[in-house]
Amino acid sequence: MCKPELSTKEPEVPEERQLDLNPVHWAETVVYHWKAGNINWPMGLYITLVHLWAVIGLRRAPYVQWQTLLWAFILWPISGLGITAGVHRLWAHRSYDASFPVRLWLMLANSIANQGSIFHWARDHRVHHKHSEKDADPHNATRGFFYAHIGWLYVKKHPDVVSAGKELSYDDLYADGCVMFQKRLDPWFTLFMCFVMPALVAKAGWGESFWPALWVAGALRYCIVLHFTWLVNSAAHFFGDHPYDHSSWPSENPWVSLAAIGEGWHNWHHKYPYDYAASEFGITSQFNPTKLFIDGCAALGLVTNRKRATGAWERSKASRGIMAGAPREVKKEQ
Ligand SMILES: [Zn+2]
Ligand SMILES: [Zn+2]
Repeated sequence: MCKPELSTKEPEVPEERQLDLNPVHWAETVVYHWKAGNINWPMGLYITLVHLWAVIGLRRAPYVQWQTLLWAFILWPISGLGITAGVHRLWAHRSYDASFPVRLWLMLANSIANQGSIFHWARDHRVHHKHSEKDADPHNATRGFFYAHIGWLYVKKHPDVVSAGKELSYDDLYADGCVMFQKRLDPWFTLFMCFVMPALVAKAGWGESFWPALWVAGALRYCIVLHFTWLVNSAAHFFGDHPYDHSSWPSENPWVSLAAIGEGWHNWHHKYPYDYAASEFGITSQFNPTKLFIDGCAALGLVTNRKRATGAWERSKASRGIMAGAPREVKKEQ
């Protein structure tokens, strides 16, 4: 039977989804949080230091050996997979099952990315999906691009985020030895893997001096990958198409996919968070090295039970196709 074509026309972007470029509003926000005692001083100080350390790395970069630059570059997809294939698609969403060697490798790669422990990242991310664009969303994009990107780390959590985090179950994370190992040593193990390990490898591998290697392959690479990850919360919630859920903020953003090795297909991902590919199509039409990695592990028998949502999407299209001609149901923002 020939199914009617669905319209993929992008609806008008609500005004709230546009960028607020008024510096007066920014200043008012800072003053508001200052007066309300909302500043998260320890984390704010740390994030500021991370950027100062990255500047040191940037200044040292022209003077290190080429192997050190290559090492810093390679650590981007390695640490990136620790986030995308590891804490995101495996531990936060359980979109596939991984054998111990894969979980061990992903835990080590995740530690190089140093984005807090797997346990805390997965907890916050489950809350993000359950309460997207609401007060309980840890990086609620309705509070602005800057807040969704990095600002959320500078202020204390909204009380709704804390209470929402307590309502979910984390039994699967408690039962995972790799997750618990990293949590017990948090933050010392991740700090070591992020900053010290890359420098020790460069020193032992090709005779690079310890500190320049630490600033370049550690600090600079770390800060860049942090921003690549944060783009998923900011740019991929602001810019791009919404072919799967017109009413939601998450968007299909190829540029974010490039930076975050396949995590920019975010409209699909929020519609079907259990899909291990985090995108509708295969790797030949949507940039997705994370899917390639998971498929490679599956080919070696190290990964099983990869869940896909393409069937659910086809059924959803078919049922909406029957309603073709009727006005599309659009959820209202709360
Ligand atoms: Zn999101
Ligand atoms: Zn997710």
